[in-house]
Amino acid sequence: MGKILEVKNLHVHYGMIHAIKGISFHVNKGEIVTLIGANGAGKTSTLQTITGLISSSSGEIIYNEKHIEKVPGHKLVERGLAHVPEGRRVFASLSVYQNLMLGAYTRKDKKEIEDSLEMIYHHFPRLKERRNQVAGTLSGGEQQMLAMGRALMSKPEMILLDEPSMGLSPIYVNEIFSLIQMIHDSGVTVLLVEQNANKALMIADRAYVLETGSIALEGNAKELLEDPKVKAAYLSE
Ligand code: ATP
Repeated sequence: MGKILEVKNLHVHYGMIHAIKGISFHVNKGEIVTLIGANGAGKTSTLQTITGLISSSSGEIIYNEKHIEKVPGHKLVERGLAHVPEGRRVFASLSVYQNLMLGAYTRKDKKEIEDSLEMIYHHFPRLKERRNQVAGTLSGGEQQMLAMGRALMSKPEMILLDEPSMGLSPIYVNEIFSLIQMIHDSGVTVLLVEQNANKALMIADRAYVLETGSIALEGNAKELLEDPKVKAAYLSE
């Protein structure tokens, strides 16, 4: 299967801080790939660099066989690459429905947008129930669902998810992981950044372990689940 995303020898600096130190990884079409690692390892910086929120110092980022180092995020959305940032930034004063519709801003066909909305309401029944509720009053888990639903409204080919389970209660964590599986089953390629290594490795095909800005380990996700080094460092829960 062909590569949909390839990152080659990427470096990111914040002033004097060398946050990403020459990482290389790829995602094949149709895969779930996870980047795991401790707080501050550079997971968020990696995703933000891919979608142009921060600039790299050097390195290559190739999406669907084209270089995208200089392409702004909204152009990437048009090209099928959606990003659900850390901290689920929904528009707090807008309704669930309005947030979802904002996710479709790059699309024109009203009927197709309506179909996507129905698909999201089908898979996220909680969002349907609360479609007229102001997003700021949703629980953390519901806001995460809304952020994911909004990204799906752009009809992406690939989705980047930044710590979707962060700060959620165990019930919501399970629900979010089922939704990620559902998104993948619907044909969307997934790059998942997670601190919950156990759950991420259980649903992923392949994984990369980031340690202080470098890739320390990579491989088949199920094999990494059994790897003694991964178990000792990341699967202690
Ligand atoms: P987290 O789980 O906390 O988001 P992470 O693995 O996503 O961690 P990053 O947030 O990418 O890690 O941070 C990587 C490194 O870059 C850390 O050392 C962090 O302190 C530093 N860093 C991140 N953002 C900035 C910034 N805006 N200015 C300075 N340093 C930063």
